[in-house]
Amino acid sequence: MQRPQSHPIAEDVGAPCVLASWRPASAPRRAIITLEALRYSQQPLMAVPKRKTSKSRRDKRRAQHGISIPRVQVCPTCKQPKRPHRVCPNCKTYRGRDVEPLRVQAP
Ligand SMILES: [Zn+2]
Repeated sequence: MQRPQSHPIAEDVGAPCVLASWRPASAPRRAIITLEALRYSQQPLMAVPKRKTSKSRRDKRRAQHGISIPRVQVCPTCKQPKRPHRVCPNCKTYRGRDVEPLRVQAP
């Protein structure tokens, strides 16, 4: 695919337009490139992978997608279930000590 020497930036002619992220270096930043100019410039509308993802590679990626049950321990203070290494949501203690509540809501 050969790039043309110049990229015409069409003015508003009332035709349906798209905002394209790709632009030539010489064009202003907020240029609106019409469909006609896009067709002429022969630029792809999005990044295109060079190669097909093989079934093996796809399945290896998806092998990590499974979710697991969160681990739960019993709080030594109130005997309620709690997640390990976290403050107990029931009695607000950690390893037997009281924990001061956060002044700001945690994100
Ligand atoms: Zn507790």
